[in-house]
Amino acid sequence: MMNLDFLSDVQRKAVTTTKGPVLVLAGAGSGKTSVLTNRVAYLIKEKGVSPASILAITFTNKAAREMRERIEKLTGAAAGDIMISTFHSMCARFLRYDADKIGYDRNFTIYDSADCKTVLKRILSDKQLESNILTPGRCMSVISAAKNACAKEAPENYIEDVCEGYSEDMKAVYHAYTERLRAENAMDFDDLLLNMLRVLEEDPKTRSYYTNKYEYVLVDEYQDTNSVQYALVKILSEKHGNIFVVGDDDQSIYAWRGADIRNILDFEKDYQDTTVIKLEQNYRSHERILDAANAVISKARERKGKTLWSARKEGPKPRVYTAPNEYAEAEFVAKEIDRLVREGKSYADISVLYRMHTQSRVLEEKLRTYGIPYQVYGGQSFYERKEIKDMVAYLTVLENEQADTAFLRIVNTPKRGIGEISIEKLRNYAQERGMSLIDAMEYAEEFIGSGASGKFSGCIQVFRDIREMSEGKSLGEQMEVVFNASGYREMLLLQDSTEAETKIENIEELINSAYTFEKQNPEATLADFLASISLISDMDTTAEEGSVTLMTLHSAKGLEFDTVFLVGMEENVFPSRRSIAEDKVDEERRLCYVGITRAKQLLYLTNCASRNLYSGSNENHPSRFLDDIPEGMLDILAAPAPVRRAKEPKQTVVFKPQIEFKPQVKADSASFAVGMEVEHTKFGRGAILSISGEGTQRVASIKFPDGERKMFLSFAPLKIV
Ligand code: ATP
Ligand code: MG
Repeated sequence: MMNLDFLSDVQRKAVTTTKGPVLVLAGAGSGKTSVLTNRVAYLIKEKGVSPASILAITFTNKAAREMRERIEKLTGAAAGDIMISTFHSMCARFLRYDADKIGYDRNFTIYDSADCKTVLKRILSDKQLESNILTPGRCMSVISAAKNACAKEAPENYIEDVCEGYSEDMKAVYHAYTERLRAENAMDFDDLLLNMLRVLEEDPKTRSYYTNKYEYVLVDEYQDTNSVQYALVKILSEKHGNIFVVGDDDQSIYAWRGADIRNILDFEKDYQDTTVIKLEQNYRSHERILDAANAVISKARERKGKTLWSARKEGPKPRVYTAPNEYAEAEFVAKEIDRLVREGKSYADISVLYRMHTQSRVLEEKLRTYGIPYQVYGGQSFYERKEIKDMVAYLTVLENEQADTAFLRIVNTPKRGIGEISIEKLRNYAQERGMSLIDAMEYAEEFIGSGASGKFSGCIQVFRDIREMSEGKSLGEQMEVVFNASGYREMLLLQDSTEAETKIENIEELINSAYTFEKQNPEATLADFLASISLISDMDTTAEEGSVTLMTLHSAKGLEFDTVFLVGMEENVFPSRRSIAEDKVDEERRLCYVGITRAKQLLYLTNCASRNLYSGSNENHPSRFLDDIPEGMLDILAAPAPVRRAKEPKQTVVFKPQIEFKPQVKADSASFAVGMEVEHTKFGRGAILSISGEGTQRVASIKFPDGERKMFLSFAPLKIV
């Protein structure tokens, strides 16, 4: 028998009511996710349900991984067969089998938001539409919203509503974008969900396959589902009717991305004979943290209202600290962390949460000064780095020849002497004939004449070589082939800079991850690997053990930490300026509730009297959310708690900062001469012994303390001293 004694009676009821629709509507930290996990284990162990007939949907890949680990502990290897996934990964996996039902190739490519912006940039420039209003970023969000609204109205109508004054242009961009992705056999994130929904709606056979297969459907964080996700869940659970959703209307924080709180509030109406379960005990935090959370959320205009209590009555009151500016605020955070760790907490117990990614920079600076290891979630993630995107682009083209956007990224990287004009001609030629760019390249003679066509032959050869050499190879080996045969490794080696070295390390890291991936998924194809990469969202970077976590409040959803620093508690920061202007402060208020309820033991709320924001120093008022917590509930700190001198910085920073080397004086390669003293970022000071070659080929022999080295003067990070 599975031991369910540790659960409360209500929680146990949620775990063991396995038939029909069940809604668990409950506050933060009340065990919703725990209940969902235990229910999956219970179905397998006690009800003999086949793991392959269970579908559990979580909000992030990280949550999915954690859930799988926890279920594995309870059920053993069987957990491997359960579908535990985010909406996006689930649809991507289904579409690998079913995309052909709606006219895509099954090896379609998934474009992340950076790829989509590249496509949009090109469209805007082709159509000469780029303006202050029509930026790639703006277009991206309008297109995404239009697609997600499509359950209710045609995208064109949506665009008409929200793009007053430029809706015709926006519609043209929308159509060009849709056609472009279609032609490239590519889908963006929204397409994954929409296309899967289309398959289910249009193909009765596929629909009955999935609805028969999944006897049990479970969804975490249901309050943040949008209309497309709602429809998917509805269809997938229609046959067996065993739909189990958990959520908290007070934690709905994704309305800006189309999430609809009605989905959870109207659940009982949508699914007949729903068992509703409310959990009221919070097991995460002590009462003093909950008091603060309740004080903030009780001011929300629209809410069902729930009571939440904790058996842990005692604990430190939330601590408030007001700093003169953001540097002092970050310094306070770093000092406090240092002190807490000396007193016995570990770095991994601590997280710093902020409203906007940009706030992390100053915090990182101070944490580094204090030698505090930290990990930043989001921001520029590993997979957004140029060298990684380039490598992935090569692989993408190898897998899907129609992926023109990926092709354009690398046609001249490394440099192959192919200029903008040749590319333009190539694009026109391909477009007129409905060919992919890579195919059109073979006909270069026809559009740029036989003399110039040679430029493309290098690129053609590269792809032939890669294809030939990667034949029959494993994933990791294929990537090594790409790295070498593309000339990419050589290009970086020649640059001979710290930056280039980091890039090589990053690519090697990517290759390693491919080897690991194929070990874990022996059947996996290149397409699967690429899909796994493109689906890593900015919320999903894996944290290393033993470091402080820095993340936005949005990414902190569902997580918990012993100690939480909620920084930037200021008007115009949190709540954000935009939310105030648009009268949408309630969503920010719920976000604040999410932030406060992440803390188990210690909570810090900090703000600055003045902050450099939106170009210029601003006087800042404390956040209204701070004002909403009665002073008696808080411990107002006058000054940073006394600390001993900070430790010497340790070399344990896990996050690799992407500091690009910028020599203070980047000397022109022509200005170097024999006999000069120079300084190299990595090798230190040296003297130039000899120089040969011209222009970018100018190479110097330099004597450094550790020996003599040859380097290209236009690439090496050298300055004259
Ligand atoms: P959120 O709304 O933030 O997603 P949640 O409702 O999903 O929270 P969980 O993360 O499942 O809550 O649980 C919060 C914490 O309480 C976890 O550390 C969990 O292990 C613990 N917990 C849950 N139920 C119990 C219980 N019955 N007894 C003791 N601890 C519990
Ligand atoms: Mg949860």
